[in-house]
Amino acid sequence: MQPYLTPSDAAVKITAIETVNPNNLMGGLMLLRIHTDAGIIGHGETYYGPGAVAALIHEWMADRLLGSDAMAIESHWRFFYERFGNFGIGGAEMRAISAVDLALWDILGQVCQQPIYRLLGGPVRDQVPVYNSCGNPNYGRNPGGKPGWPGYGSLGEPGPLNDSYQLFHDPVGLARELLAEGYTGMKVWCFDGAAHRSGGMRISLEDLNHAIKPLQKIREAVGDKLEIMVDGHGFFMLPAALRIAEALREIQPLWLEDILKMDNLETLADFRAQSRMPISASEMLLHRPHYQRVLETKAADFIMIDPTWAGGISESVRIAHLAQGYNIPTTLHDCTGPLTLYAGMHVNAAVAGCCYQESVRAHIRSFYQELIDELPVIQDGHVALPTRPGLGVKLHDRVFSPDRHGYRVTRL
Ligand SMILES: [Mg+2]
Repeated sequence: MQPYLTPSDAAVKITAIETVNPNNLMGGLMLLRIHTDAGIIGHGETYYGPGAVAALIHEWMADRLLGSDAMAIESHWRFFYERFGNFGIGGAEMRAISAVDLALWDILGQVCQQPIYRLLGGPVRDQVPVYNSCGNPNYGRNPGGKPGWPGYGSLGEPGPLNDSYQLFHDPVGLARELLAEGYTGMKVWCFDGAAHRSGGMRISLEDLNHAIKPLQKIREAVGDKLEIMVDGHGFFMLPAALRIAEALREIQPLWLEDILKMDNLETLADFRAQSRMPISASEMLLHRPHYQRVLETKAADFIMIDPTWAGGISESVRIAHLAQGYNIPTTLHDCTGPLTLYAGMHVNAAVAGCCYQESVRAHIRSFYQELIDELPVIQDGHVALPTRPGLGVKLHDRVFSPDRHGYRVTRL
């Protein structure tokens, strides 16, 4: 299929594309701006391998985008997806499509003077339920350096917003703090240390009990007031995963996320059947064909999408609608930059089958203000819908200074 694109006098034409890697704040983050002849600027983002993604955008995608209609979002999406398909549609390619897709939706929203969720048929809710992922201000950031290995982020240190540290040193205090702030859910990755020691092929009873003890204390102290989600970061093989699931049964987690590697959905379906625990899958998947397989193999109870990895707002909405057809709810991932959170909020606001938005208070309240002009407002376990046109947030101009690390610009 050749995506149809006709020139139009009404088109808003793309004149320049900028990318930058703000490695002083978050090593793996790539931020993007698309400029237009109307003076409107669209903002996008993705995370991991920022140089590789920027190369795809500047050295290949720019040939199509520069001079073309910025509002022809679906035409551009399909054009790139089909051509990347000739090489297997890999992660960097989908991250490049994602970053561009966010920026094009941001432009369309500003042209129409509407938040993106309204252009997608929303809102279906007037606020979005969020949970807190228990990282810390430096989790996964590696400021000043290269991006770290996924799932090897810092445990943190004593101090404000060091949720991952507090989980093991004062779990009840952490739970009470989150409840006092209105959160109704928390996500933890308390088995990562065990996986680093064992390679994920087995887990000792000692490691199992060390990891689960904070969760037992939280359940004893706050009862059923907090939902707990457990993320395994894809570290474990089936026997260890089953042992973890059995130990977690008394905790009654809302879901088990990526306890297994996501490279074999039949094994995931087997894990779900054997464990009889609710399974979430998975931010590690890339596009509709992957999620279709999850749904067909009955491998998950929740679908998890990262909108800046899986094909942008366009593909996330399609995946969420697909999942709703199977009566499987969708949740949106965020543990990276601020536009990932905003993109997820728009998808949550536009698709009735979405049930939860991940957020990281340690990121929002530390370095996000260095990147964006308005922080999301989280109260009583919900985030308010963006009200400004487009994404509803802008990246600071100073972030795109040519002397910033990894800065690139390609002009018409
Ligand atoms: Mg996860």
